[in-house]
Amino acid sequence: MEPFVLVGGGLTTARAAEALREEGYDGDLVVVTAEPHRPYERPPLSKDYLRGEAERDAVFPLDEGWYAEHDVDVRTGETVVGLDAAEHRLTLSDGATLTYAKTLLAPGSAPRTLAVPGADLAGVHYLRTIEDADRISSALLEASLEGVGRLVVIGDGWIGLEVAASARTLGLDVTVVGRGDHPLGRVLGPEMSDFYAGVHAEHDVRLVRGATVVGLDGADGRVTGVRLADGTRLPADGVVIGIGATPNIGLAESAGLELRDTAHGGGIAVDATLASSHPDVFAGGDVASIPSERYGRPLRVEHWATAQHTGAHAGRAMLGATDPYDRLPYFYSDQYDVGMEYTGWVDVAAGYDDVVVSGDLDAREVVAFWRVDGRVAAGMAVNVWDQMERVEELIRSGREVSAEELRRFVG
Ligand code: NAP
Repeated sequence: MEPFVLVGGGLTTARAAEALREEGYDGDLVVVTAEPHRPYERPPLSKDYLRGEAERDAVFPLDEGWYAEHDVDVRTGETVVGLDAAEHRLTLSDGATLTYAKTLLAPGSAPRTLAVPGADLAGVHYLRTIEDADRISSALLEASLEGVGRLVVIGDGWIGLEVAASARTLGLDVTVVGRGDHPLGRVLGPEMSDFYAGVHAEHDVRLVRGATVVGLDGADGRVTGVRLADGTRLPADGVVIGIGATPNIGLAESAGLELRDTAHGGGIAVDATLASSHPDVFAGGDVASIPSERYGRPLRVEHWATAQHTGAHAGRAMLGATDPYDRLPYFYSDQYDVGMEYTGWVDVAAGYDDVVVSGDLDAREVVAFWRVDGRVAAGMAVNVWDQMERVEELIRSGREVSAEELRRFVG
C-alpha cells in the first residue's frame, strides 16, 4: 500500500504521526517539511525560548529517536509544491513525486508582511520559525547585555504583546504600534484589551494606538526608526513585525479542494472528521476550517491547541474514525507574571452582550466571560488555574447564565 503522507513541520503532523502509530497503523508513514527540523511547536518562540531561558529541545514535541523507533520517515528541507488529489500524488520542489494512500495537509501559516519602504532593512524581523526566534533572541540578548536597545513592535496581537513582554523582561525599551484603538481588541474586545494594556503600561511599554506605519528609516542598511502617518518618528534599534498570518492554502487551492470564503475565515473546508472535499485528503492546524454547530459557522483557529488536537484527530480519522471534531478553541498566553488561558469563541466584531468578570481584577486573578444571547460563548482565566473544564462546561451547556452566577464563579 502507498504511504500515509503528512505535510507540514508543525505540531499537527507530530500529533498525527503519534496518533497513527498509537492506533496501530503499521504502514509506511512519511512527514514532509520544508524546514530543516523535525516537527516543532511555536509557543516557546515568543516566550521563554526567545528570552534565552529554554533550550532548543523544548520546542520539539517528540524526540528525534521517536521517529526512528516508530519507523516514521521525516523528510526535512523538502517543499511540497503540487497536489493531484485524483491521482493521490504530491510533487516536491525538486520535481520528485510522492504517491500516497491518504495525506494530511498541515502547512500552517505565513506571516503577513508589511509593505512599506524600509521593511527589508537589517534589524527588521518577523517571528515564525526557530531561525526567526534565534535572530530576534540574539538581538534582544545583546541589547539586554549592553543595557540599551529600543525595540519597536509593529502589531498589537499575540506576537506583538508576547514579544513586547519578553523584550521588557530583558530590560529593553519597548514601543508597540497598533492600528486599532485596542491591543488584542479583535479577539478580546475593549474590556479585556484594557486589562492587557494596563499590564503593559505598568511595565513601561509605550502603546501607540490608531497608528499607520508608513515607512521604516535606516542608516547603513540598518533600521533606525519607524515613521507613522501622523508624522511621528519612533527611534528603533530593532523592529519586530507581528501583523497576523495568512494560511498556506496554495496547495489545496491549486488542487481544486474546496476552500472556505474569507468572510468565514478562509482556509481549507473540512468536514467534522477533518476530511477535505477529497476523502483521502485531510487538513489540520491553522489551515483547517472546521464546522462548528455550537457557533453556527465554521471556525479556523490559529493556535497551538488546534494543532495539537486536530493533528491527533486527523490521524485517527485517516484510519477510519468518524467521530466529529468537537473541541472548543483554546489558547494561552504568558506575559510577565500574567498567565492566561482562553476557551470558546466570540465574533467580537458582530458583538456580544457583555463581559462578566469574576475574581479580583486588581490582583489580576480573574475569570472573564463573554456572553452572547445570555449564554457563555467564551471564557478567559487569568492567573486562576484548573478552571478551564468548568468554563467549558458552561459553554457546552448552552444554557442562559446570569451575570450574578458568573460573578460567583471564582469562589
Ligand atoms: P494576530 O494575533 O492575528 O494579530 C495581528 C495584529 O496585527 C492585530 O493586532 C492586527 O490589528 C494587527 N495588524 C494587522 N495588519 C496590520 C497592519 N497592516 N499594520 C499594523 N497592524 C496590523 O497575529 P500575530 O500576533 O502576528 O500572530 C501570528 C499568528 O501566531 C496568529 O495566528 C496568532 O494566533 C499566533 N500566535 C498565537 C499566540 C498564542 O496563542 N499565545 C502567540 C503568538 C502567536 P487588527 O486587529 O486591528 O487588525
